[in-house]
Amino acid sequence: MPKPGELTFVAPRGAKPPRHLADLSPAERKEAVAELGEQPFRAKQLSNHYFGRMSNDPASWTDIPAASREKLTESLLPELMSVVRHVSCDDDTTRKTLWKLFDGTLVESVLMRYPDRVTMCISSQAGCGMNCPFCATGQAGLTRNLSTGEIVEQIAAGMRALKAGEIPGGEARLSNVVFMGMGEPLANYNRVLAAIRRLTDPAPDGFGLSQRGITVSTVGLVPAMNRLADEGLSCRLALSLHAPDDELRDELVPVNTRWKVAEVLDAAWNYAEKSGRRISIEYALIKDINDQAWRADLLGRLIKNHRVHVNLIPLNPTPGSKWTASRPEDEREFVRRLQSHGVPTTVRDTRGQEIDGACGQLAAAG
Ligand code: SAH
Repeated sequence: MPKPGELTFVAPRGAKPPRHLADLSPAERKEAVAELGEQPFRAKQLSNHYFGRMSNDPASWTDIPAASREKLTESLLPELMSVVRHVSCDDDTTRKTLWKLFDGTLVESVLMRYPDRVTMCISSQAGCGMNCPFCATGQAGLTRNLSTGEIVEQIAAGMRALKAGEIPGGEARLSNVVFMGMGEPLANYNRVLAAIRRLTDPAPDGFGLSQRGITVSTVGLVPAMNRLADEGLSCRLALSLHAPDDELRDELVPVNTRWKVAEVLDAAWNYAEKSGRRISIEYALIKDINDQAWRADLLGRLIKNHRVHVNLIPLNPTPGSKWTASRPEDEREFVRRLQSHGVPTTVRDTRGQEIDGACGQLAAAG
């Protein structure tokens, strides 16, 4: 950490993050290694260390000569981000990390360890351009897209921490990744898709995580949802619906003025059909705004008989917001009505609230 008043390097606006191994497909890695005057098979060795062994310590890569190691590290494994701070809660099994990127931009990720799984919530953009009024990230607007490497490194760092036993409970492996940190993943489509490939390609090309454990959460960018459906992935898609009627959704999720509830749901069903996965409908319950029983009934009627599951999220109020979470009795009634339509419904566990690690709070406090 720089001391107060100390000058730090700030990249010029618009400068691109340095190229990283994780930005590249296996074929591109070979080319990049060859361009450095190294044998193409070094690409596989490097991938094996970074993805297969989750090692970012070149000193341990004894199958590569020291001089080559240095050259490869310098040009393919630049440090993309540094930890500004970790904040933990839940007996240190929930850990939020604030990252500083090469140009001084801040983003966050959250690691949550449960008895049966470990989930990381990661950012796909610095800031967000979707402007949802209840979301802290939305208030500051979009700074920039993250590179594939910057997305993957959040997870790589989490995996290394788990492997090193830094999270209480002994050594563990990451099982789930949710694109529910800062940003709209489908607005950074190509880089997010490449990141999914890096995460799920079998080692040593990628980390070999299961696609089924990855959730892409979207405000509902219809063309990108349809494009994603055609990629042939078995990732889960979460749709941030928050209202079943256009009048209210226009306000809560402003992109609704472009793609209406009916269109967004059609795109969701198309994804469910092609991926074979249930859609997860995200619905933040906001007191007296979207939590009325009639809205639960309307939502139930719209989505029943589809492959779907509703995830109700008690609103996590953002500083200065006039909105707050629903009363417990209204929440219970909302759940009951949805279930009476036969719609599987759960209320999201709100881990990490006390560290501002809950939805939409990431990096807002700096
Ligand atoms: N842009 C994507 C992913 C990031 S937000 C999306 O909107 O889906 C992840 C989830 O957290 C979304 O469902 C979002 O609507 C929700 N969220 C944002 N701010 C929240 C808040 N203050 N309280 C509860 N949920 C919130």
